[in-house]
Amino acid sequence: MKNFETIAIRTQAERSQHREHAVPLYLTSSFVFNDAEQARALFAEEEQGNIYSRFSNPNNSELEEKIRLLEGTESAFSTASGMAGVFASMAPFLKAGDHVVSSASIFGNTHKVMTEVLPQWDIQVTYADVRDNSSWERAVRDNTRLIYLETPSNPALDVVDIEWLSQISQNAGAIFVVDNCFATPYLQKPAHWGADLVVHSGTKYIDGQGRVLGGVVAGSAEHIKQVKNFVKRTGSALSPFNAWVLSKSLETLSIRMDRHCENAEKLTDYLDGHPDVQSVTYPFHSSFANRDIAQKQMNKGGGLVCFEIKGGVSRGRKFLDNLEMISLTANLGDTRTIATHPASTTHSKLTIEEREKVYVSDGLIRISCGLEHIDDITEDIERALQRSKS
Ligand SMILES: *Cc1c(COP(=O)(O)O)cnc(C)c1O
Repeated sequence: MKNFETIAIRTQAERSQHREHAVPLYLTSSFVFNDAEQARALFAEEEQGNIYSRFSNPNNSELEEKIRLLEGTESAFSTASGMAGVFASMAPFLKAGDHVVSSASIFGNTHKVMTEVLPQWDIQVTYADVRDNSSWERAVRDNTRLIYLETPSNPALDVVDIEWLSQISQNAGAIFVVDNCFATPYLQKPAHWGADLVVHSGTKYIDGQGRVLGGVVAGSAEHIKQVKNFVKRTGSALSPFNAWVLSKSLETLSIRMDRHCENAEKLTDYLDGHPDVQSVTYPFHSSFANRDIAQKQMNKGGGLVCFEIKGGVSRGRKFLDNLEMISLTANLGDTRTIATHPASTTHSKLTIEEREKVYVSDGLIRISCGLEHIDDITEDIERALQRSKS
C-alpha cells in the first residue's frame, strides 16, 4: 500500500469486535486501565496506549497516521484548528531573545501571531518578501531560530522555492516550517524539499466540505514529540469527532483536488484576456512569474485563482454584490466556489503601502474554485463582471 489514494482510504484504526467497515467514532474523554500496573506503565510511557483524549484517541491517531504517510514524514500530530497547529509549530521551539524570519504574505491570523503574540515574549520577527529572494537572506540573523513560509501564499498565490529556502534555513541552524494548506499533500510535499515541519489547516481542503475546524503538524519524530507535548500541556487537542470527519474526508481528497484544479485551470483560461480583467494569477499558467518553481514542487496548480478586476476597490465590492451563486464567505477549499475581495475585507485595516508589500492590490479578487460545473461558475462571474461595470 504505497499510493496516495490507497493510503488515504485504507489507513485505519483497528476494528472493534463488531467488525464495522467504516471506522467508529471514539467519543470518549478517557480510556480504562486493566489494572494499577497498566496505569503505571502507560503513564511511565513503558507501554503505548490511550490514556486521555487530550493526549491521544484512536480517531486522532488514524488522521495523524494518514497525514504522516501522505506527507512522507516520520510523525504527525493533530490540533484543534489550523491556527492551533501554526502556533504549536512555533511555540515549543522558541524562547525569549530568539528571532523568526517569516514570509510577509501569510494567513491573517498567522500574521497576528508574528506581530502581536511573539513580541510579547521578546521574540522578534522580520518579514521577507515572497518576490525578492535576497530579502530572506538579508533577514537572517545569528539568533534566527525559525523560518516560516506559506506557498502558494495567501491571498496573492506567490510561489517560493521550498528547496532553496530549506538550504538557507539549514545554514542558519533554524527550523523551517511550511504551511501546506493551499496545496495539500496531494499537490505538494514540503518535507521532500527540506521542510522540517509541515502545517495544515484541515478546515480547508482536507475537510473540503466546510464543516469542521482542525489542524495537523507533520515532521520528524523528535520535532513532533515536542509539538505533541506542547499541545498536551496547553490543551489545543483536536476533538475525536472532528478527527473522524477529517480522516473520512481524506478518502476523497485526491478526486476532489483533481476537480478543484481542473475547474481552476478552466476559470484561468476564461479570465485570461477578458476585457474587464487586468491580469489573472494561477501558479501553472503560462504568465505566472515562478511557473518553473511551481511546476517543480507542485503536481498541479491548485484550486485558487486570483484576478485583478479593472476599476479597483469600488468595482471589486460591486462585483461581489452581483454574484448570485458563488458564496461570499471567509473559508476556502470548499465544494462551493467562494469569492473574496481582500482589499475591502481581510486586508482592509492595512494602509495602501502595507497592502502593496503583501501584494494585495485594490482590485484583487480571490476565487476558491469549488466542485460545481465550471459553466455555472463562469456564468456567475461573467454576469457579476457585466453588472459591476456601472
Ligand atoms: C485557514 C488557514 C489557517 C488557519 O486555519 P484554521 O483552521 O482556520 O485555524 C492557517 N493557514 C492558512 C494558509 C489558512 O488558509
